[in-house]
Amino acid sequence: RFLSFEGIDGSGKSTQAQRLAQNLRAAGHDVVLTREPGGSPGAEEIRALVLQGDPARWSAETELLLFTAARRDHLERTIRPALAAGRVVICDRFADSTRMYQGRGGLRDTVDALHRLMIGIEPDLTLLIDMDPEAALGRAKARATAEERFEDFGLPLQQQMREGFLALAQECPDRIAVIDGNRPAGEVAAEVLARVEPRLP
Ligand code: C5P
Repeated sequence: RFLSFEGIDGSGKSTQAQRLAQNLRAAGHDVVLTREPGGSPGAEEIRALVLQGDPARWSAETELLLFTAARRDHLERTIRPALAAGRVVICDRFADSTRMYQGRGGLRDTVDALHRLMIGIEPDLTLLIDMDPEAALGRAKARATAEERFEDFGLPLQQQMREGFLALAQECPDRIAVIDGNRPAGEVAAEVLARVEPRLP
């Protein structure tokens, strides 16, 4: 089974991905917890390239190709082998993040075409952690590091990203479950687990 977490920066999706991995391991599942951009040695190198340095040194198209290259390597080296071995893969961000971030500003059709050509897989279930954009932005700013770029979109763009994710969830109701992230982490984790358990063998 292939599970992904999505949401705006600061929504708590990484915490929830970790908690789900712990809960499933405690229940005896063989879990691979991974993340994007990154998740394989080659893709982590691309992560360092795209998240460090001046983001304006590449066009939006070039950045999309870099993110897609990272995903392809992650898929070949980490995700597909784990799925083939019957393991549960939990991915902190996947293609929906690219639909939202690299797809903004008119590139969504290109994102979808590249996905069909080079990736061609969707998670069995995506947990969208939905969170108040202002609170999420505060959290994301508080833990931003000097090394990795944090895209401070500002509140209007953070709101736009949130709405984009919710619209995507409406387009794909069978795949994307919207989870209210404006609650204590333990409560959110319990709902995530309840949504995931029926989908596991
Ligand atoms: O999820 P994480 O915090 O590791 O993401 C790091 C940064 O990369 C965030 O600022 C996020 O918005 C950005 N990102 C992006 N496009 C993606 C995935 C992440 O711009 N497809």
